Amino acid sequence: MHYRMPLFDRYLVHAPLHEVSAVLSDDDLRQVCECRPLADAELDRIRSLLRRQPRHHPQVACGPFQPESLAIVTTRSCNLRCTYCYFDADGQDERHVDVDCCISMVDWMMEKAIAHGATELPIHFFGGEPFQAFEVIEAVVTHCERRCREAGIRPVLTATTNGLLAEPRARWVADHLHGLVLSLDGSREIHNRNRSTASGKGSFAAAARTADIMVARGVPLRLRACVTAASVSRMSPMAVWMARRWRPASIKFEPLTVNAASRTAGLQPPDPFDFARQWYAAYGRTAPLNISLVYHPVNPGQPRLSSCLVGHDVAVLHPDGGIHACYLDPVHWVRQNQDLSLGHVDAGNHVLVNPARVQAVRDTVADKPGCTGCFCRFSCAGGCHVTHRQQGNIRAYDDFCLATRTISACLMLDRMGAAEVARKLLGDTRSLSRLAFQEDDRFALPRHG
Ligand code: SF4
Ligand code: SF4
Repeated sequence: MHYRMPLFDRYLVHAPLHEVSAVLSDDDLRQVCECRPLADAELDRIRSLLRRQPRHHPQVACGPFQPESLAIVTTRSCNLRCTYCYFDADGQDERHVDVDCCISMVDWMMEKAIAHGATELPIHFFGGEPFQAFEVIEAVVTHCERRCREAGIRPVLTATTNGLLAEPRARWVADHLHGLVLSLDGSREIHNRNRSTASGKGSFAAAARTADIMVARGVPLRLRACVTAASVSRMSPMAVWMARRWRPASIKFEPLTVNAASRTAGLQPPDPFDFARQWYAAYGRTAPLNISLVYHPVNPGQPRLSSCLVGHDVAVLHPDGGIHACYLDPVHWVRQNQDLSLGHVDAGNHVLVNPARVQAVRDTVADKPGCTGCFCRFSCAGGCHVTHRQQGNIRAYDDFCLATRTISACLMLDRMGAAEVARKLLGDTRSLSRLAFQEDDRFALPRHG
């Protein structure tokens, strides 16, 4: 698959499956697409790279379910009332996942890990706020540590949290977990604006203290910040401040996902081009500090058909014992006529996975007709299969697409040593719009030359 996007009076050419990116003039591109011999050695090299067999063949998985990692949604309840939350953490559902159910799941994963000679067993705790079910996590971690010790496998225990933890609990987390994803929107003022407790108290102090404890104990910290129209202009200085204060393993900025809660709160998502400009500026300022700036739809790794768990055979245990491919409450998929269920843990704590459901969920990732002409098809891969599903099925870019396409193009230029061109593009709204809004990026090469 070959793509070309307008870049001022040239084209940004990208062939992700062939690992080729180049900037070509109109005439260069025409010559590359023709069959006659080329006098220019560089153009000839690009043409042969584009014509060879692809190096990558991203495919829908098949065969037996082979989960290499387990995620446990310990509860949907949360001790915060973030104004933009779309994870149903409204305090209504106080259920905690059953400990025995988790232990059966860990044992099931352990058997698979041993059978496949795995050296690690990754388990991630998610919510709601996962530490609201602290006693569940303690029991699962203790069990997992023992089983891993016996089997000679390394447990890799991580969690996504809001950081609103009492100090002794934060210290326990630092002693037992191997990494923490912490939601922290930036400075005290920005963070507290949208992330407060039910009583209206800001959560910055607690989240920052948890971060301090992790850093002091050497636990890798991944910071995750939600960006709104009100905070987007602060992104770049915020990234530098976070990088200097906590030296996190990574910082991830996510534009606000518009939902009923955010609408009620009167929050606006950032303009996608402002988000991309600030993201790229933050990237430029954190790279010299050796901090990785993450935007998950942009993939520096291998071309893929999904940018999240779905399609990658991760088992997500839900509080009701359901085993699904995604963190979200099933109510969200049902609204989209989707089914991301894989199986369940029954009343006798037997793990039951339905192979037909496994394959049906894997097949979901190939169903992105709205993305076929987009040069980000094999990196962004359509984004969230649930919340971005609607947009992924129509030929129209939304804000998420525009930001993703812009950041992807800038990073491509950056890796070609053309950071100056990327900055010029971001500063030229007309040229940027031509690139970002181009409806179909594909171009074809004749088979023989
Ligand atoms: S069209 Fe949008 S969702 Fe699809 S791959 Fe491109 S940026 Fe991602
Ligand atoms: S489908 Fe969406 S919510 Fe579910 S795991 Fe993927 S990105 Fe997350």
